[in-house]
Amino acid sequence: MSIYTEYRAKYKKNLIRLTQSWAKFRKLRTPDELKLFHKECVFILHDTSTFELAALHQVISSMKEIAEEGLENKKQSKQIILEIDWLINQLIRGNQEDNDPFLLATPQQDVNQNIVTSMKSHTSVIERATKPNIVIIDDQKSVGLALIKMLEDFSFHARYFESISEFKEAVKAHEVDLVLLDVVMPGVTQEAVFEFANELQHSGIKVMCCSSTFTFDVRLLAVRAKVVDYIVKPVNTYILVEKIGRALGLQSQSSYNIVIVDDQESMGTFYKAVLEQAGCTVKFYSSARELFTNLDDLSPDIFLLDLMMPDVDGLEVAKMIRQEHKFDFAPILFITADEQDISRLKAIDAGADDVINKTTSIQSITKQLLMRLERASKVKAFVAKDPLTGVLNHGQIVELANQAIHSQHRRKSNSALAIIDVDLFKKVNDLHGHIMGDKVLCALGQLLSNSVRETDRVGRYGGEEFVIVFEDCSLTDAAKKVQAIKQTFSKLKFGNEPNRFSVSFSAGLVDLQFYEAVQPAIATADKALYKAKMSGRNRVVIYNSQDADNADGTMRIS
Ligand code: GH3
Ligand code: MG
Ligand code: MG
Repeated sequence: MSIYTEYRAKYKKNLIRLTQSWAKFRKLRTPDELKLFHKECVFILHDTSTFELAALHQVISSMKEIAEEGLENKKQSKQIILEIDWLINQLIRGNQEDNDPFLLATPQQDVNQNIVTSMKSHTSVIERATKPNIVIIDDQKSVGLALIKMLEDFSFHARYFESISEFKEAVKAHEVDLVLLDVVMPGVTQEAVFEFANELQHSGIKVMCCSSTFTFDVRLLAVRAKVVDYIVKPVNTYILVEKIGRALGLQSQSSYNIVIVDDQESMGTFYKAVLEQAGCTVKFYSSARELFTNLDDLSPDIFLLDLMMPDVDGLEVAKMIRQEHKFDFAPILFITADEQDISRLKAIDAGADDVINKTTSIQSITKQLLMRLERASKVKAFVAKDPLTGVLNHGQIVELANQAIHSQHRRKSNSALAIIDVDLFKKVNDLHGHIMGDKVLCALGQLLSNSVRETDRVGRYGGEEFVIVFEDCSLTDAAKKVQAIKQTFSKLKFGNEPNRFSVSFSAGLVDLQFYEAVQPAIATADKALYKAKMSGRNRVVIYNSQDADNADGTMRIS
């Protein structure tokens, strides 16, 4: 029996333990966890000497040394994480191959030094002070100083220079994170400006252009110089801060849901740890079958699928996911050890969005994922909206009402639904024209969105009807809220004198706790709305289930 087969099963378990203890350190970052990780390394090292596994020995020894440097406070956690992530990723990759290169008995002198060397070149980061350093180069001093003030308000450290040469004399590359560079400056050609931008980027400094020029040629030069962004003056503070935050990876990411399917447990544990650190919620399944058993309860923003799994082919899994309407907007990415395994076209044909190679560093995989997630969530938000009013469209609001009904059963808290219908809207169109009618709908949509809490949802149900879903809210509180909005709305004035006019609405509300499905809930809210219309409009009526035996089961509150 070869050493490889003898040690194989044991090593797989060791690798899982190593990754798990690493994941724990990544999460808690305490010396105790680092000590435990160090212990796992020492444990594996016993075997590597016994079995003469020199390559494995070398990687694990490096991990052990890095952990020791951390324990002696010679290295910061950020750097330790970068380095060990790199090495663990190599081990996991190796373990996916039929003949794990780390399990081949190799004489010490033949061990390829590449892994540790490439780890060093990939992870050489310079630790800096916590405040990001921004430099502004702009020939207009007033603009530069105003930008400095703006950035300092947002906790950046900012410095201003009037010209490129002034900057070059005063600043060393490692002191700067990002340069905000004016494209048009006296005494330098645009080519020279972009060449300078290129130089900066080569030394690891991000460059963002800032200019009043907006021509195709300049934008093209900027793109070719690979600047991270291009801002057109006058600069909007929030956009600038958001863009800088994005370029430097500073903004707090919203919590994305990620589903990973991979038959290799150590790989799942590792990716889960890294992505959770990046603020994501991760569910890991070690088989496609397990994924499908849980599919109904999942609402992932992205699927990460292993291409080669023992029971099913990743392409088949992608096809099955794509058959589910509710995952229309969730990107599917394949991770594969060898891109030759699959042609991109085949993957896309199966419904996948991209193929990521496992050899890519975990940091850059995370970055790619986050970028995809951000874009997918923008597309999703765009498609979910009603184009006229900016509130959610019919399909979305109905779906969210449906989710509220189901989650309230789980959370044991009340939710309410209101349906709102503009009074005598036909007359608005007839008297003031359709365009003015549209303006009224827009104003109502905005007013509703701005008046409710972030957890409440507003959508356009159709024509001049809107639906609000109030989460964690009693029926009476929801009715009071709608009542208050109604008062504000009826005070709004539309059009010009002498044709100024105001509009009112009527509303019907239901308590969602009595419903298992959306349609009956909306139908009942509609009954209450009808009652409001019948009793003179400009009213809020709630449907009271206790009174359901009464004449029409509704109760008027205003
Ligand atoms: P009630 O108080 O009974 O609700 O009377 P109403 O006139 O509001 O009700 P009705 O349902 O008779 O008329 C609704 C009108 O809303 C008819 C339709 O042309 C108009 N409408 C629907 N969608 C739009 C839209 O997007 N823009 C405009 N301007 N009008 C719309
Ligand atoms: Mg109507
Ligand atoms: Mg109406």
